[in-house]
Amino acid sequence: MRDVPAPVRRAGEVLLRVHAAALNRVDLYMRDSGSGITHSLPQTLGVEAAGVVVEADADSGLVPGQKAVIYSNAFCGQCRYCLAGDQPLCLRAHIMGEHRDGGFAEYVAMPARCVLPLPDHVDLAEAGALLAAYLTAWRMLFGKRALRPGETVLVAGVGGGVAVACLQLAVHAGARVLVTSSSDQKLARAQALGASGAINYRREKVAKRVMEMTGGEGVDMVIDSSGAASWDDSLRSLRRGGRLVTCGATTGSNPPADLQRIFIRQLEVYGSTGGSVEECRQLIALFASGAVRPVIDRRFALDDIRSAFDALSDGSQFGKLVVTMT
Ligand SMILES: [Zn+2]
Repeated sequence: MRDVPAPVRRAGEVLLRVHAAALNRVDLYMRDSGSGITHSLPQTLGVEAAGVVVEADADSGLVPGQKAVIYSNAFCGQCRYCLAGDQPLCLRAHIMGEHRDGGFAEYVAMPARCVLPLPDHVDLAEAGALLAAYLTAWRMLFGKRALRPGETVLVAGVGGGVAVACLQLAVHAGARVLVTSSSDQKLARAQALGASGAINYRREKVAKRVMEMTGGEGVDMVIDSSGAASWDDSLRSLRRGGRLVTCGATTGSNPPADLQRIFIRQLEVYGSTGGSVEECRQLIALFASGAVRPVIDRRFALDDIRSAFDALSDGSQFGKLVVTMT
């Protein structure tokens, strides 16, 4: 923690007074190493931020006093992916908290195209926990091969922000959701949020239990952000023609591919990260309607941010850890 000059807003940018910013795994990575991510020190961390507009260009459509949330990728708007509306693939992506100053601060400046207005009635602490985990979850579930009502999805390792977000969004979409965890307490919380099947992977064989729960067929989709530790079970839990979506590899990124299973059963395996501006707008509309609210495990004052990092690396949370500035 240190005092630094407030960011100076350049033309085309918006200055936001930050109210809340959630923690994400990448913050731990940036704190501990950040290697491979181009940045220069000192740099403020934090890939999320929700707050109130302080200064904006007159033609930005944003006015001082307005609530807003930051789309963390300062995309170029000109490459082939941006022109196709697929900003997460931008060739010149510049992510707040990774490549430029982030949201664990009282103020942050970002290009106006990355500042999305919020209606007055929303809770800014919840908004500050929306655009990493929930946007990632949105694209995983509804991006490439959208989850449909009545389908069954397995969410591996429920408790982390993305997994809890997938559970909530899939339940809202009318899907049947099965979850795994090593913690009975987390499984109970997931069931309270609408999970219809819960498997403790310490005690039970995941794929076997999934088959029992799906009449021997398997699930339509698996959401896996853990990687090596859950990969085999994830592949074995899919029905023929099912799809496995990965957005993380916290337990290792090179599990055996089991190609024979993939081609014979015609499985689809694909990756996902972040979400587009359009997906962001859809998510914000759902959030503003009150239909899905981010699960906040704990809130921390900015002065106590070290405790928040400790809690995240400890892994005991269910949902998001949020830092509030005011
Ligand atoms: Zn681009």
